[in-house]
Amino acid sequence: MVTVAVTAKFHNPSLSRRKEWQQATQLYRDNKQFCIDGWENGDFDKSVTTASINNNLYSAIQNQAIREAKSDHSKDGAVRYRESQPFAVNNQNWELDTTENGTVVVGFPCVSQWWYTPIEVYDDIADPVERLVEGDADKTRLQVYRRGDDWYCTFNIEYAADTAGETPIGVDIGERHILAATAHGEDKSMLVSGGEAKYVRRKYRSLRESLAEAGALRARNRVGDKEQRRITDLNHKLSRRLITFAEQFANPVIRMEDLEGIREDSSWSGVHSWHFHQLQQFITYKAERAGIRVEKVDAYHTSQRCSACGSTGTRDGDHFSCSECGRGRHADLNASENIAQREGDPCTA
Ligand SMILES: [Zn+2]
Repeated sequence: MVTVAVTAKFHNPSLSRRKEWQQATQLYRDNKQFCIDGWENGDFDKSVTTASINNNLYSAIQNQAIREAKSDHSKDGAVRYRESQPFAVNNQNWELDTTENGTVVVGFPCVSQWWYTPIEVYDDIADPVERLVEGDADKTRLQVYRRGDDWYCTFNIEYAADTAGETPIGVDIGERHILAATAHGEDKSMLVSGGEAKYVRRKYRSLRESLAEAGALRARNRVGDKEQRRITDLNHKLSRRLITFAEQFANPVIRMEDLEGIREDSSWSGVHSWHFHQLQQFITYKAERAGIRVEKVDAYHTSQRCSACGSTGTRDGDHFSCSECGRGRHADLNASENIAQREGDPCTA
């Protein structure tokens, strides 16, 4: 999902508009303060509705004021609002449209009526605004406020990322095979066994153990440094190989597990997880240098799900099999294919 934050200036709003918007600003602020004070003093409970508020704002705006006050009150208690608050209306109660001559107009209810007013649209927001007009995007709440003599509105536009022509490459990093990558729709994959990393760790562990027995503390720490350097070299090599693999496809996009989503039971939680984290970082910055976008995806269920039909399958060692559609595949490649199929969020190193 792509989210574009839009702030736009209203184009020459008439005096009657500006007067009413100023009035709405004041009423909106008073509404919120009325709610906060009422809750603090115990005058009414949280189920307060627009019926209990006596002013001239359209109910869509009053409702938004109550919602905001509720959220502020639960976070900060006895809030005192300043005068220069924007007033707001929820996403369903305002409009963005174009007039016959192509002017972009924002419409929202206020005190006496709905006001439709042109906004200034510059190149940086022209594309998302057009998507919204065409009905290919969603909008969030609208906020309206004054700065100096000018009036502005601000809102977000949200739409699905345009992925036509891209080749998603799912990357699974883990203990058994350190790197498994699948290019979605290309029938090509890459699998690197974790053998070398395991060998490095085993070799240095036994060295450390024998040095510890001999009481050679400084020598033991040096061995730890050497092990880290070996792993770092290995991660550089692996990430370069992956970038080379990715570069053979048209507009590659690398998708990897979101670290936030890593759970206790995954191989990432072990003592060597820094090894995997470092590999992911190397992939991210090398990809960016090569002009390849990296996305992080929710890795939930990627090793249990059949990448062909979506059913839950069974894993037996390296082999994954699905009883629904009969598919059998290398378990880590099945996982990487699931990752390739997921929509992700942009990721930076
Ligand atoms: Zn299946």
